[in-house]
Amino acid sequence: MKNFKLYQPETIEEAVDVLNERKDYHLLAGGTDLMLRWKHGQIDLENLVNLKRIEELNFINFDEEGLEIGALVSVNQLIENQAVQEHYPALLESALEHSSPLTRNLATVVGNICNASPAADLIPALLVYDAKLRVRKKEQEILLRLKDFFVGPGQTKLEDGDFVLSVILPAPVQELKSSFLKEGKRKAHEIAIVNSAVSYIDKGGNISGLKVALGGVAPTPLLLDLDWFDEISENNLNKLVKVITDSITPITDQRSTDWYRKEVTGVLVKRAIKSAD
Ligand SMILES: Cc1cc2nc3c(=O)[nH]c(=O)nc-3n(C[C@H](O)[C@H](O)[C@H](O)COP(=O)(O)OP(=O)(O)OC[C@H]3O[C@@H](n4cnc5c(N)ncnc54)[C@H](O)[C@@H]3O)c2cc1C
Repeated sequence: MKNFKLYQPETIEEAVDVLNERKDYHLLAGGTDLMLRWKHGQIDLENLVNLKRIEELNFINFDEEGLEIGALVSVNQLIENQAVQEHYPALLESALEHSSPLTRNLATVVGNICNASPAADLIPALLVYDAKLRVRKKEQEILLRLKDFFVGPGQTKLEDGDFVLSVILPAPVQELKSSFLKEGKRKAHEIAIVNSAVSYIDKGGNISGLKVALGGVAPTPLLLDLDWFDEISENNLNKLVKVITDSITPITDQRSTDWYRKEVTGVLVKRAIKSAD
């Protein structure tokens, strides 16, 4: 392993300067993905920009606008947050299924997003809540819908010099129900074979605005809007499973076969819809 240069900006503006002065760099948050890829020789590190000292990126705000999670918030900090516990059940459930308590201390929510794994655990819940990313782009800030952020496995819309400042979720909606489920060999402690989050409005059994987000079944996390779904009936659930299995393109790898992924996706989504609260 060759040596690399380490940069440790302490403010967002310092980070902007560091990134604008060089092209060949990697950003580091918790390091649980990045350092593993480096250790396994999957990436070459020339310049490593450690974001961890930027205190202004370590915050969670909750107000009438919604929830904003800074780029340095760890998965454990998310789990401990009262607003997340009370208003965003699918996000809480996905955080509890992420790795182990030890890894969750280091791993950040935004790192999970930016790593852009098709099977990342926090992404489906963020998709069904219609999350947006606040991105610093040279001298300006832009908002990107999470739904439009992923380009392929490990690839995002971020360009040279860009970095994510936070992820923003809309304010909770009264009758919105949501949940997250994961199928993995050992559930938590490892990447999902398939995962799924769902959300819908439930007005006394009348269902509207069903969203299903899926991980591990396509090159990027997938979000499906299923507005025709109007009640939780066997008929609708069976139709839904057919629509979903026709929309996904899972692969066979060391963790599972494409056939199993297709089969389990339908089962998972049905269970997620029935267990949402
Ligand atoms: C033992 C182990 C178990 C794991 N289990 C799970 C699991 O169950 N579920 C799961 O989903 N994942 C799991 N992971 C993967 C990993 O922990 C998560 O993806 C984690 O949330 C990544 O966060 P991080 O802060 O460590 O990211 P880092 O490794 O620091 O960064 C990941 C990527 O995002 C980029 N990045 C980070 N912050 C920013 C930013 N602000 N702007 C732009 N780019 C940025 C980095 O450059 C890098 O490319 C596991 C990893 C390990 C080692």
